[in-house]
Amino acid sequence: MKRSVEAFRDEFDLLILGGGISGAGVALDAALRGLQVALIDKGDFASGTSSVSSKLVHGGLRYLEHGGFHLVYEALHERRRLLHNAPHLVHPLPFLIPFHRGARVPPWKWRAGLALYDLLAGRSNLHRSCPVRLETLRQEFPSLLPQELLGGARYFDAQMDDARLCLEVVKTAARQGARVANYLEAVAFEKREGEIRSVRAVDRVGGADFSIRARQILNATGPWVDAVSSLAGDATAARLRPTKGVHLVAPDRGLKTAFLLLHPADGRVFFVIPWMGRTLVGTTDTISDETPDRLAVTPEELDYLLAGHNRYLSPPLEKQDVLNTFAGLRPLIRSRPGSPSTLSREFQVYASASGLLSVAGGKFTTYRRMAEVITDRIMRRLRMWRPSRTQDYLLDGAPDGSWPEFESTTPRELAQHHSISEDAATHLVRRYGKHAVDVASYLQQNIHLAEPVVAGEPDLRVEWVYQREHEMALFPEDHLLRRTRLGLFRPGISL
Ligand SMILES: Cc1cc2nc3c(=O)[nH]c(=O)nc-3n(C[C@H](O)[C@H](O)[C@H](O)COP(=O)(O)OP(=O)(O)OC[C@H]3O[C@@H](n4cnc5c(N)ncnc54)[C@H](O)[C@@H]3O)c2cc1C
Repeated sequence: MKRSVEAFRDEFDLLILGGGISGAGVALDAALRGLQVALIDKGDFASGTSSVSSKLVHGGLRYLEHGGFHLVYEALHERRRLLHNAPHLVHPLPFLIPFHRGARVPPWKWRAGLALYDLLAGRSNLHRSCPVRLETLRQEFPSLLPQELLGGARYFDAQMDDARLCLEVVKTAARQGARVANYLEAVAFEKREGEIRSVRAVDRVGGADFSIRARQILNATGPWVDAVSSLAGDATAARLRPTKGVHLVAPDRGLKTAFLLLHPADGRVFFVIPWMGRTLVGTTDTISDETPDRLAVTPEELDYLLAGHNRYLSPPLEKQDVLNTFAGLRPLIRSRPGSPSTLSREFQVYASASGLLSVAGGKFTTYRRMAEVITDRIMRRLRMWRPSRTQDYLLDGAPDGSWPEFESTTPRELAQHHSISEDAATHLVRRYGKHAVDVASYLQQNIHLAEPVVAGEPDLRVEWVYQREHEMALFPEDHLLRRTRLGLFRPGISL
C-alpha cells in the first residue's frame, strides 16, 4: 500500500471521506463489488475514534437493559465473522461479572441477561455463560475485594487491536483496487447545478490542493460528520449527540479475564480489561461538546476511573501507577432522550439535497454489516447491482488455512529461518498474520533490525521498515500510536 496523491486524478464511482472503521468498511465492500473507490483521511487511518475504543468485539451485554435486542443479535453474529475473517487481530476473551449485595443490577437480572445473550448468539456463541460460586471466585480471583461479594458469572466475548484492524480493512480494500491516502483532507465541496460533483482536497504532506471527482461521495467522518456536512452546505439539524469516553492504561495487573463492573458513583457498566500486556480501565460516558480534534482527559475523569477500579479490586490503582490515558468521542445519533449510556449504538445514513451521503452512529463490532447496508444503498443510487462479498472474506493478513495451526507452526519456522527468538516471531505472527513472513524478510538486509525498538517491549525495528513501505506510516506517531502501541504504553518515548 503506497501513498500517491497522483492516484486521485481519475474520476471515481465512490469517494469516501474518513479512514476510520466506517469508511474503511465501505471501501472494502464497494471495491469487492467492482466499484472504482477512493478513500481519504485528513489524518492517519484510524486516528479518530477507531484507535481509542475499548477494543471489544462484543454483542454489548449492557444494551439488553435498554431493549437493544436487534443490535446485540447483529453484533454477536458479526463477532463470529470477525473471529473468522481476522483471526490474527481478534481473539476470544473471558469476562467475569461479580455480583454484589445491593448493586443496581441484581444477580437474577444478570443471569436472565446472560441467558438471553447466549440465546441471541445461537450458533455464533463462543461458550455458554455459567455461574461462578463465591468460593471459586475467591480462589480464582484473589484481587476481587470481598465486601458484599455474593458470587458471579462468567461469559465470553472477543477483543481486538482496533487501530490495526481498521488499517487491515484499509489494506484489504487497497489490495482490491481502492485508492487510499492518509493526510489528505476534504476542505470544500464543488457543485454543479446544486449537485456535488467533486471534493477539494488538501495534501497535508506535500501541501498541494486539487479536486477529486466522484459520482457518489460518502461522508464517513465519525464525530466530524456534522462539521463535514455543513461544509457541503447541508443545513439539516445536527445528527450527532457525541459522548466522550476515557480509558486509563495501567501496567499489567496479571489478569487473564476481563471484569464487567458497575461504577459505585452512578451504577454504569465499566470494564477492567487485560490488553497487550497492560490493563485498561474504562470507560466514562458523558455528553460532550468538545471538538474531536483536541480531546483532553480531565482530573475528574481519571479520578472516576480510579474510584471504579479501587471499589472492587486490590491492590488499589494510584494516579502515579497510570501509564497513560486516552479519550474518544462516540459518534452516536441524536435519537432518543435519556442518559448517555442509553443513546443508541445503531447507525443511520442520510442523503442531502445536494447528493452527499453521510453515515452517523454505529459501533466498531458491526462495521462490516453497516458497510454492507451503506454499499447496497450506494449501488442503488449508482444504478448498479452486485451483492456484498464481505461476510466470509478474509482480511489481508488472515492465513487461508486454519488459524490455530498457522499460529502454532509459523513462529518456529520464522525463528529458524531468520535467527530470531520464537517470542519475537510469535509477536510478528499475531500482529501481521501471514504477512509476518514479509516483515521478517527485511531482516535478510540487516539483522540489526531484529532488535526491539525499546528494550523490554516486543516491537521490533524491522516493523518500522515494513510499516513505512507497506502500511503508509509517515510520521512517528503513525508507528507509535496506531501500527504499534508503544506510544500509548511509553508516552515519553522519542525515536
Ligand atoms: C470510548 C469509546 C469506546 C468504544 N468501545 C467500543 C468497543 O469496545 N467496541 C465497539 O464495537 N465499538 C466501540 N466504540 C465505538 C467505535 O469505536 C466507533 O463507533 C467507531 O470507531 C467509529 O468509527 P468511524 O469510522 O465512524 O469514526 P472515526 O474512527 O472517528 O473516523 C473518522 C475519520 O474521519 C476523518 N476525517 C474527519 N474530517 C475529515 C475531512 N474533512 N477529510 C477527511 N477525513 C476526515 C478523521 O481523521 C477520522 O480518522 C467505542 C467508542 C468510544 C469513543
